[in-house]
Formats: sequence, structure tokens, C-alpha cells
Amino acid sequence: MFDSLSIGVLALQGDFHLHLQTLSNLGVEAIPVRKGEQLQGLDGLVFPGGESSTMLKLMEDTTMEADLIRFSQEGGTLFGTCAGAILLAAEVEPKQRSLGLIDIAVSRNAYGRQIDSFETDLPWMDGEPLRAVFIRAPKIGTVGPSVRVLLKHGGEPVLVETEDHGVLVATFHPEATADRRLHQLFLSHVQKRQTRHRPKTSVVSS
Ligand code: GLN
Repeated sequence: MFDSLSIGVLALQGDFHLHLQTLSNLGVEAIPVRKGEQLQGLDGLVFPGGESSTMLKLMEDTTMEADLIRFSQEGGTLFGTCAGAILLAAEVEPKQRSLGLIDIAVSRNAYGRQIDSFETDLPWMDGEPLRAVFIRAPKIGTVGPSVRVLLKHGGEPVLVETEDHGVLVATFHPEATADRRLHQLFLSHVQKRQTRHRPKTSVVSS
């Protein structure tokens, strides 16, 4: 069903392996991305969990951040989980650089030390509840008018997306469970946007 798609996973740091595995299991071509030039030809990109400050550090002396922003502007569909959500947000507390590709403000490590990791069941649309694993997760505070809230936990948004389906963000780790519904949702967005993002020359190599 998704076998015509090429999806990258940002593979600088964090749990990118699990995303690659999940995507491969769903039949897509899944590619670890470490350089901007590897974005060429991809339809979508996953920003995995890990440590957002470390990922930023690893991108510092390259054109990667500009390349990622251009990939999104040129129609590439994005899915950020946990640290990935932090990288994609418009604003981060405590202050940290971010790509600003979805109009949300996030607070890092906002669940506190005692319960900084936990699992819970989230009500999923009209199906079975979704098991969600939160690991030193951020909280989404403000949500801009171009953003829809899909799931909440404790009254706070934990799964949101831009209205045009270009950016999907979860504060938890869907790759850490066997449930593939979130990756399937992302891939159906990629498919619907029908962008086939294959610029010939516009991605600057680092
Ligand atoms: N606390 C991490 C950060 O700030 C995110 C944790 C995660 O991705 N599991 O980047």
C-alpha cells in the first residue's frame, strides 16, 4: 500500500533505528539521513526521539537546518516524535534553537523528574486505545490557529498536526510499541499530499 514511498529518518542521534524498522515493515523504502543531500528524492522525513540539544549540535557546522526547512517548503511531509517534536516547534522552553515548521510552543522535560518516563493508553479516534510511551517528554503549550490537536493526555495536546498535513508531531514514542497506526497515519498524509519531492538541484549539500 505504501510501497511507492521513500521516507527518510534523521539519523544523527537517538532512536532512529526503530523508526527505520517500523517504516520498512510497512513496506516503504526507509533511508537513514545524515546529510542534506540525502533529502533529495524523499517523500517524507521522520525526526526521531533522542536528545534535541545533541542533534542541534551535530547540525551546527552544516547546512542541514536550512536543507530541512527547504525540504518542508518544497512539499516534503514531516513526522516528529519527542525530541523531533522539539526540533520542529516554533518555540522551545527553556530557549533553544528550532526549525519553526509547526506553530506550537513546547517545554522540554516538562513532566518532572519522578514521572519523566511513563506509559498510558490514549483514546484513539474511534478504535482501540493507543499505547503511548513518554520518555522525558516535552509538553505542548500554545498551539497556533494552523494546528489541529488530534490527541490529548491530561487535558494537554500530545499529538498535533498542521492543517495541510505537512507536519505531524507526537510528544511520545510511537516507534517503541508494536502499534503502527501513527506511522500509517503519517504515510497516508505523505501519500495524499502526492508531492513526490524530487528536486534536481535545490538541496544544498553540506
Ligand atoms: N528530553 C529530550 C529533549 O529535550 C527529549 C526526550 C526524548 O526524545 N525521548 O530533547
